[in-house]
Amino acid sequence: MDNKKVSSASKDFGDDKAKKPRRPMKKKVCEFCEKGIAEIDYKDVSRLRKYVTEKGKIISARTSGCCSRHQRQLTVAIKRARMVALLPFKGE
Ligand SMILES: [Zn+2]
Repeated sequence: MDNKKVSSASKDFGDDKAKKPRRPMKKKVCEFCEKGIAEIDYKDVSRLRKYVTEKGKIISARTSGCCSRHQRQLTVAIKRARMVALLPFKGE
């Protein structure tokens, strides 16, 4: 007969505040805006490469820090670059 009393009324709130240490990410600025590039050239592979993963995926604007205008241009540029085989469709 083990009549265990389960009375764990441990209400210790207020003390353990799970304060997440928000990492202060460095502010990302659109590279193309910064450099004053109005039109993204699809032949500029060295630049485009920074916006694709090694698997060949396009990095999202959230990660790349591009503004929406340039991100859209970038997407088109990368797709064009793929068509002319400057960038891979799929990483090796
Ligand atoms: Zn921009």
